[in-house]
Amino acid sequence: MPRIGELGRRVGRVVPVVVLVAGMAATLAAPGVAAQATASREAVIIGANALLGGLTSGVVVWVRGGSFLEGFRGGVLGGGLQYAGKRLSTSAFPGAGLAGGVVGAAGASMVRNAAAGRGAVDRLILPLGPLVVDWRTSSDSGGVSARLHLGRAIFLSRLVLNDDLSLDGAETVSAGAPVFGARGRVIEGESGRGVGGMELWGTILLSDRSLMPPFDYGRLLAHERVHIVQDAFLHVAWADPIEDWLVERIPHGDVVNRYVDFGGVYMAIAGLMILALPYESRPWEDEAAYMESGW
Ligand SMILES: [Zn+2]
Repeated sequence: MPRIGELGRRVGRVVPVVVLVAGMAATLAAPGVAAQATASREAVIIGANALLGGLTSGVVVWVRGGSFLEGFRGGVLGGGLQYAGKRLSTSAFPGAGLAGGVVGAAGASMVRNAAAGRGAVDRLILPLGPLVVDWRTSSDSGGVSARLHLGRAIFLSRLVLNDDLSLDGAETVSAGAPVFGARGRVIEGESGRGVGGMELWGTILLSDRSLMPPFDYGRLLAHERVHIVQDAFLHVAWADPIEDWLVERIPHGDVVNRYVDFGGVYMAIAGLMILALPYESRPWEDEAAYMESGW
């Protein structure tokens, strides 16, 4: 572990990397690029996913005093799996979202493992509704456990208690994430305008279709399922490692981490990203808009 001064220098040197990623995001978000699938656009999406995975683990390993390239390599592979998970989740077969979610979460877990200096698949983390399934595959400390994601659990209970919303069982199984339909109501987007559906905190909310102008329902669900995979990356690869590190610093924090994810860091990062970028400049929206129509 580097001393504080060295840590500060390394964190400072991360700034150019962040600028580079922001530049890439801006390129992705350039107007007019969210068109139909083309080989070159597909290559940009694969590259961006792989790069995001690589940079995440590379920077973390570097800040902790290790080799950027070593961390980068492991993360690139995980980032590639993220892309595969998103593509799978936009397929039309039943359970596509669940399959894509598992593949995407495996990719996010690989990024986290590379960042922590573990073997590529030593720890596989899958957010599933209000639960977080955690599979430690190494033979010595192996086993499957599950934690409660407190933030999502509170959000979900509020939805369950809302009389206007009902859980869509079939779509929930297919999406691998809770899907709620609004009865006699149109879901309001951020700007207060009616939208066909939205994804929030790993949950999909759908407007009452009878109140909406005709639209491609399958495409809407595919779009929201891409957000579910993105959301798992934010949770597994970015927010949760920071939160675990913070919680470990309070008394009995290691025990708390075994049973609960508060989700505070996850919600803070997501909130900041939404505040920082207007809807039309969000790379994750461009990615979902591009991928929703499939190949
Ligand atoms: Zn969207």
